Amino acid sequence: MDINPFEFLHFIIFFLDNCLCRNFFTDPLQKIKAEIPKTQWKFLQYEFSTNHLDIHRFRYQAQSIVIEAGASVLGEEALENANIPFSITEIDLHEAVKNDLNQTINNPGIVNGSITFQRTLRYDEILNFLKEVPKRSTSYRYISVEAIGKSFENRDIQMVKIQHPAAKSIMFFDAGIHGREWISVMTALYLIVRLIEADRNDDINDVNWYIIPCVNPDGFIYSHEQFPFQRGNRNVTDCPPPCSVCGVDLNRNFGYKWGVDGLTSNNCSLTNPGSHAFSEPESKALANTLEKYAKDIQLYISMHSYGCDFLLPWTYEEKPCDDADDLNKAADRSAALMNSFKASPQCRFDVQTAGIMPNAGSSEDYAKGALNIKYVYTLELQSGGQSGFYPLEREIQDSVLQSYAGIKDITHYIHTETGRNQEMGRRMLEQSRRKSGCREIYSVNLSLYILFCFISALS
Ligand SMILES: [Zn+2]
Repeated sequence: MDINPFEFLHFIIFFLDNCLCRNFFTDPLQKIKAEIPKTQWKFLQYEFSTNHLDIHRFRYQAQSIVIEAGASVLGEEALENANIPFSITEIDLHEAVKNDLNQTINNPGIVNGSITFQRTLRYDEILNFLKEVPKRSTSYRYISVEAIGKSFENRDIQMVKIQHPAAKSIMFFDAGIHGREWISVMTALYLIVRLIEADRNDDINDVNWYIIPCVNPDGFIYSHEQFPFQRGNRNVTDCPPPCSVCGVDLNRNFGYKWGVDGLTSNNCSLTNPGSHAFSEPESKALANTLEKYAKDIQLYISMHSYGCDFLLPWTYEEKPCDDADDLNKAADRSAALMNSFKASPQCRFDVQTAGIMPNAGSSEDYAKGALNIKYVYTLELQSGGQSGFYPLEREIQDSVLQSYAGIKDITHYIHTETGRNQEMGRRMLEQSRRKSGCREIYSVNLSLYILFCFISALS
């Protein structure tokens, strides 16, 4: 039997870690900041996959990757051993989460059928709200809610469709693919609220909107009730004790270039990519839905947190996609608009062109690579709270308002631009037909002329 020495070493370290009864739920987890040379991304990826560094936010700079992360004692040791300078923010993340949540827990979630955006809704509240949404259909807007599939724990994954009679193009959004990224779910809900309140003349009625506010309901609920840092779904198969983190990272489970960045499958990891591509019902349901509507989807944005970034394909490798300039142009103006909002001073939106720290198996790469959807982004949203994932009342309201402005802008730009390109393409096609028509007439005339000359010469 061939034994890969790296994998064997990985197994030994992982085994020892767990035998020492480390527990991600309860062990001290310090918030740190570090600037890591780009050449060290494999180190970073490895520490993430072993839960020593739980990367909350990353940003590429010229020669480095700047991260905010939750670091266990082993994570701090690993940074020291690799001679990577880092600063400890003196934030105990377990305490920070409690403080963040305590500050919003008593706020009302829904009043008279309207979401207050004073705190993150619980999943049952979201379902109650979605039940009422189709009643807001009008003569110029048809709203429906449908289940695109089931989660691992058998919950429906809901999608809201807001369609307009004359529109054909679809703007497709999802949120909550990672359980703990609550602001993304609230942003999707805010988008739905604004769309169903829009009047007849609003230009958002020019397109259809398909929005999945919570791709990973099991992980979302688990992050509320059990473990606030839950990223993955709740597939607990092959995740026996002493694993303290269970679930598959759905954004590493899509079937385009799955696993090419060499992640070993570690079932107790925050970045567990699953046993194979599309092993999880949630990623499969989302992929099937994207595929079903792909030919009409002009824009796909997968919303995450936290950071302030539009991330462009590819995420599986360092190389940007071929039309990155087009994607960059669309996102750049939207980022500039978002930066004009007051929520922004601490977090300037930026466009990041390609994955220096590869993350294969993302929904973004699948939409672009397998389905050929042109405008595809991961949008890292501004969140809040001391912990970073659990924004307070003011932060929720500022963030959703800011994101809505950016989304509306990029949607309008892409719809107009794509329409213009289609119109230009149609005109070019017509022109080329006309030209080739002229050539045909010319060539017929020339042939007749030559034939006439030939007959004349004979006679
Ligand atoms: Zn995420």
